[in-house]
Amino acid sequence: MQLTGFDLADYERLLDVALANGWQFVTVEEYLRDDDLEEPFVVLRHDVDRKVGSAVAMANAEADRDVQSTYYFRTSKFDSETARAMSEQGHEIGYHYEDLAKTHGDVAAAYDRFERNLERFRKHVDVTTACAHGSPLSPHNNTDMWSDDPNFDEYDLLGEAYLSINFDNDRPAGLYYLSDTSRDWNLDLPGFGLIRNTDDVVDALRARARSRLYMLAHPCRWSKSRVEFLERSGWDVTTETVKSLVERAHRIQRA
Ligand SMILES: [Zn+2]
Repeated sequence: MQLTGFDLADYERLLDVALANGWQFVTVEEYLRDDDLEEPFVVLRHDVDRKVGSAVAMANAEADRDVQSTYYFRTSKFDSETARAMSEQGHEIGYHYEDLAKTHGDVAAAYDRFERNLERFRKHVDVTTACAHGSPLSPHNNTDMWSDDPNFDEYDLLGEAYLSINFDNDRPAGLYYLSDTSRDWNLDLPGFGLIRNTDDVVDALRARARSRLYMLAHPCRWSKSRVEFLERSGWDVTTETVKSLVERAHRIQRA
């Protein structure tokens, strides 16, 4: 059974607690531009792999709180109006590339495809950073299209959301990477303890366990309501259990 704590209300609580405790949220672009950001800060990144609706809900929740973050769109999920609306909210829009997987490992073709897709996005919004999608069905790792010292300038990019950033989870002053992958934060933060569900992240923010965070939240892993969460997280439990959980949730919602 997956952990609870991954619906929009949990996400909003995370934002509220962070803001109440003096954290500022920055985009990947801001982080790359400014090496003297005031601490504590969270670099807030979202990979829009599926479910654009969930990304919009997150972007709205952030905008309501004057929080800006970065949304990386795959070409298949890029919708110009959505991207423009998010950009108008102050969010950064980036390119979530998977060109090497799409070209079956042909690096030259991947560069062409990368450039064409950037142009397509840039007809609608500014794009200054890109981020590789982990293509689970491909043997190709999308970041492998770059050499050891990639020249992102060539594409008018400030950098790449993984390759251009030095993460350091071991050093207290380092940039601490945390991700909601598999709907479990699953980290052991030295001096704080295990971080599994979103309540643990909230506690770590409240305790200011670290002062430089880089947080990746995939909108498709978060539900817009508790009912949707129970329905979707039930993939790995029996139908009966899901049904009773959902019925209970409907009762709670009605109450
Ligand atoms: Zn992705």
